[in-house]
Amino acid sequence: MALPNIGVPQPGEDGTHISFCRLCEALCGLSVEVKDGRIAKIGPDREHPVSEGHMCVKGARMIDVVHDPDRLLHPLRRTGGPGEFERVSWDEALDDIAARLSAIVAEHGGEAVTAYLGNPASFATMHPAYMNGFLKALGADKKFNSMHTDTGAKNLVLELTYGNPYRYTFPDLEDCDFLIVIGGNPAVSHMSLISEPRALQKLDAIAARGASSLSIRGGPRPRGVTGTWPCDRTATSGC
Ligand code: SF4
Repeated sequence: MALPNIGVPQPGEDGTHISFCRLCEALCGLSVEVKDGRIAKIGPDREHPVSEGHMCVKGARMIDVVHDPDRLLHPLRRTGGPGEFERVSWDEALDDIAARLSAIVAEHGGEAVTAYLGNPASFATMHPAYMNGFLKALGADKKFNSMHTDTGAKNLVLELTYGNPYRYTFPDLEDCDFLIVIGGNPAVSHMSLISEPRALQKLDAIAARGASSLSIRGGPRPRGVTGTWPCDRTATSGC
């Protein structure tokens, strides 16, 4: 079904598409040039109200993800050892998966089934809804995503503190009088987990308005941080 014509290219059409990066929580706005049905260039969306033109190198190279020659575009069935597959139809693949999953659930219950949702699929609108509904229908009680391999310690602290591993807290970078950054380097991480694509500019602004920020970590002082308290392993108990 075609989307209403609001003066912008339809999905897949040539032209400039305003989109966003699905690789991390910063969700930077992107401007995507499509030519001859393929992405020709990805640049920052300079009009985006949050990322304000920020984009890291990963966002720019999403073009390589979309057009990777090894990208899986149709179902494959393993026929032997590593790299040995045959192409099958969607009906064959779905029937095969349904038969195998049914046998597993019948013998071991739905708890024997789980799924992993990685990036960039996690930030697509429908992927999480489809996965959650599918697992629920099977009676599965576990699911995994990139946070289990990336931010597990933070999610455990949130669970222990607030009773929910996804109940994130966000520092008030615009108005705080004193910011403490523990164990992080915004110059590298860009504070993506708190959805702050303009992290360094926000730290600069804290210093510019006369407020303070303190970094408790090893390594050099991040840009914009007014105080640093290097902590190495031997000094950890004093930090
Ligand atoms: S900071 Fe995150 S959301 Fe922004 S371009 Fe990089 S990977 Fe994408």
